[in-house]
Amino acid sequence: MELWQAILLGCQIRKQSYGPGAILGDGSCAIEAANEAIGIPLNQKCFPYAVKAWPFLNNEVQCPDCKRESAMYWIIATCLNDRHHWTRERIALEFVKPIEESLTPKPIEVTLPAVGVEA
Ligand SMILES: [Zn+2]
Repeated sequence: MELWQAILLGCQIRKQSYGPGAILGDGSCAIEAANEAIGIPLNQKCFPYAVKAWPFLNNEVQCPDCKRESAMYWIIATCLNDRHHWTRERIALEFVKPIEESLTPKPIEVTLPAVGVEA
């Protein structure tokens, strides 16, 4: 599942929460929502799980709001979610989706060997 889709799915599980104490409440940040959508239980260390599922979260990106540069998981959770209070839907559709689509590899042309022509 794509990250932006996982965030949207996770939004339906619980409400949004902000800050490092999010785990103690009944909400989830954008990253936690995505984790939960793919079956990872909410955990205080949500970043390692998310990066394992979506390695591009380690990529350096720029916050569209304050222009700060950092790893994508940090921008999503700490900057857009906690600091700028973007909704998770907005994070998914306006920030994550365009980046994720730009990373999708183009289809590779494969020429299969003809069957039954072995020497
Ligand atoms: Zn920011």
